Amino acid sequence: MVKISNFCIFRKHSTIEEFSGQTFDIQTKILPGVTHWQSPNYFAYYPSNSSIAGFLGEMLSAGLNIVGFSWITSPAATELEIVVLDWLAKILNLPNEFLSAGQGGGVIQGTASEAVLVVLLAARDKVLIKVGKNALEKLVVYASDQTHSALQKACQIGGIHPENCRLLSTDASADYALSPAVLGEAISNDVANDLIPFMLCATVGTTSSTAVDPLPALGKIAKSHGMWFHIDAAYAGSACICPEYRHYINGVEEADSFNMNAHKWLLTNFDCSALWIKDRSALIQSLSTNPEFLKNKKLPLMLQASQANLVVDFKDWQIPLGRRFRSLKLWMVLRLYGLENLQGYIRNHIKLAKHFEELVSQDPRFEVVTPRKFSLVCFRLLPHNDEACASKLNHDLLDIVNSTGKVYISHTVLSGKYVLRFAVGAPLTEERHVNAAWDVLQEKASTLLGSM
Ligand code: PLP
Repeated sequence: MVKISNFCIFRKHSTIEEFSGQTFDIQTKILPGVTHWQSPNYFAYYPSNSSIAGFLGEMLSAGLNIVGFSWITSPAATELEIVVLDWLAKILNLPNEFLSAGQGGGVIQGTASEAVLVVLLAARDKVLIKVGKNALEKLVVYASDQTHSALQKACQIGGIHPENCRLLSTDASADYALSPAVLGEAISNDVANDLIPFMLCATVGTTSSTAVDPLPALGKIAKSHGMWFHIDAAYAGSACICPEYRHYINGVEEADSFNMNAHKWLLTNFDCSALWIKDRSALIQSLSTNPEFLKNKKLPLMLQASQANLVVDFKDWQIPLGRRFRSLKLWMVLRLYGLENLQGYIRNHIKLAKHFEELVSQDPRFEVVTPRKFSLVCFRLLPHNDEACASKLNHDLLDIVNSTGKVYISHTVLSGKYVLRFAVGAPLTEERHVNAAWDVLQEKASTLLGSM
């Protein structure tokens, strides 16, 4: 047996009685305060999948506990990440420029927020090299008003003037997608005012309602103004592994960077946000550091890899230095389940969401608010008489339904209307869970309407 005297501080507490005491504490003190994202009755926000494969990868990563910031600190971690992101890029049928063989490549970030931040920094520095550092105040970034707030946070961190983050209006008539005409007009106004458009962030599957921005037209506009074009497909990117949904990212050829969260809807435990970029040098130029303590020149030739630029050092593609071996879980998911099973998994959720949408449509007291594209249904209880009371009515319905503890849903606001969101995507959800959730919604709606 290995002697682990250094661990005696922990061993002091590790009698069987104390261990079962801790287990008891987890059940009595921790679990009552946990929101069960893996429950089959969880339909809030967006899913955050876990799976046996993802869990195994996570466990292996925790056990190895490497800190793979540069290639030399654990070559397998860097190499596997390159390989696995190339696989996923091919599954998504991304353009070849995003593959590691050329000037581009993929990298795992913690979240979509980190992904948009690093590309904003790369885009900012790229344009500042051309126009001069003093022009920072003039840089403008464009997106729709449905874009995730992560973009605004990236602007704050990246020093973009708060007024220069243009969140352009969308409406129900275009299903909340960004209009190329509105974008074109905003750019023309800014150019006329001596401002510098430098980045466009489009979304495929917005957080509120899964709106899909028209990538081909937007991409052309971005290109004609020399802007960086980023696509945020954090949630809906997973659906694009199915050929019948791949068209939602048509136009990705025009993009400089593309991001999707495998940890949302692709059975990969949090965190695993896949970012691909066509010109990795732009990212490296913005984010690389090379302090003495990380240099490896004195090592034998084979190990001088970083200095010789023979290898990838992912520390230069991200904000932190240290990084976990996250590719292990994505690797496990892709290898253990395979593409066909993953496609079946996505299709099943979309089928269940369609089923829920049909249930809502059949009840005249409710309306489906926006056409469903993926596995999110936006709906609401219609008010008896005036629109003014609709928000309160739906707010109350959400509260009563969630307080049953039988189901968990969330809400958003679209065109000023308070709307309920039903996002199918937990790995264990079946039709009976969807039906049971609908029963709760109908029952509580009857109670509410009856008391009015
Ligand atoms: N982008 C979109 C479209 C999202 O739906 C979300 C979260 O739901 C995000 C970005 C932010 O994701 P993260 O938590 O990975 O930063």
